Amino acid sequence: MRDTAPLLERVPFPAIRRGQLDTLQVNVGYRCNQSCIHCHVGASPHRTEEMSGEVIDLVLAFLARRQITTLDITGGAPELNPHFRRLVRAARASGAHVMDRCNLTILEVPGQEDLAEFLATERVEIIASMPCYLEDNVDRQRGKGVFDGSIRGLQRLNGLGYGRDGSGLILNLVYNPQGPSLPPPQAALEADYKRILGEHYGVVFNRLYTLANMPIQRFGSTLISKGEFDGYLDMLRHAHLDANLDGVMCRHLVSVDWRGIVYDCDFNQMLDLPMQRSGAVQVHLADLLDADVAGNPIRVAGHCFGCTAGQGSSCGGALTASQGNGSTAEA
Ligand code: SF4
Ligand code: SF4
Repeated sequence: MRDTAPLLERVPFPAIRRGQLDTLQVNVGYRCNQSCIHCHVGASPHRTEEMSGEVIDLVLAFLARRQITTLDITGGAPELNPHFRRLVRAARASGAHVMDRCNLTILEVPGQEDLAEFLATERVEIIASMPCYLEDNVDRQRGKGVFDGSIRGLQRLNGLGYGRDGSGLILNLVYNPQGPSLPPPQAALEADYKRILGEHYGVVFNRLYTLANMPIQRFGSTLISKGEFDGYLDMLRHAHLDANLDGVMCRHLVSVDWRGIVYDCDFNQMLDLPMQRSGAVQVHLADLLDADVAGNPIRVAGHCFGCTAGQGSSCGGALTASQGNGSTAEA
C-alpha cells in the first residue's frame, strides 16, 4: 500500500486550535471481519493490533478524571476486541454516552450472536456504514454479500427498537462516495435512503451522515495507483470553506490508538501523525490525565481539506456552516 502521508504533509492548511474536550474516540484495534476498499483504517481480518486490558483501564480512568461526556468506540470492528463489552459497561455505568461504530455484518459473526441485544441493553448509539441503498454499490465497495448482511443487521436492530421514534435507541447511517467525488447534499440523500430502505426492506434509522473519502490508507493508495491523487486533492482544496473550520471534529475530540497514543483525530492516527504538545513528538493518554488540551495547536495537513470541502465532513456528517442542518455529532 502506498503511504500518502509525505504527500499530504507538504500541503498547507489553515492553523486551528483545540476547544473544550468532550469526546474521547478510542480505536480498540484494526481487526475487522471485512476489508472494504475505502477503509481509512486499512482494517482486515489479518490485522492483529488490539487495545490491551491495561489501556482499556486507562481509557476508563481518563473518562472519569477529565469528565468526558462521550466515548466513541471504533476499529476495525471494535466488537472483536475481547474487552469491548467491559469497556461499554463501565463507561455507561459512569454516565458517559457511548457510541459504537458498527459495520452491521459483525452482528452475524460466530460468537457475536447476542451483540445486538447487548448494545440495546446498554443503550449504545450505533453508527453504521451504509455507503449506498443499492446492493451492487455496497458489495463492490465492502465485499460480496455485505449489503444483504447489513440489511439483516438493520432489521434486527429495528426489531430491538433502534431507529424507532420514542425508543431512545439511536441508529445513524454513514454514506461515503464510491469514488473521488464529494458527497451529495446530506438532507436530500437522507430522504432518499429513508424512502428506499423503508419501502424495500422496512428499515428505519435516525440520521444519515455523509462523509468525504479521505486520501489516506487504502483509498489514498488507490488514488495514487490510478494517477488520481493530485486531482482529488485539488478538488478538495478548491471546495474548501473557511466557515467549516469551526466545526471540524478535532476541536472537541481526541483519538486514541490501541497503544494509548493520542492523535487530534482518527485520520491523523491512520497517517501516524500523533498529537504534539509542549515540545513532545507524541503524547500518551496517561500524560493527559491531569492536563487540559484546550488551546493546543491541531496537527493539520492536506487531508484536512476532506473535512472542510463543500458541506464539510465530521464524524457526525455534514457541518452546520454550509449545510444548516445541525449535524455535528460523530460517525
Ligand atoms: S467494516 Fe469499517 S473498519 Fe472494517 S474494513 Fe470496512 S470500513 Fe474498515
Ligand atoms: S483531518 Fe479533519 S478532524 Fe483531523 S485534524 Fe484535519 S481537520 Fe481535524
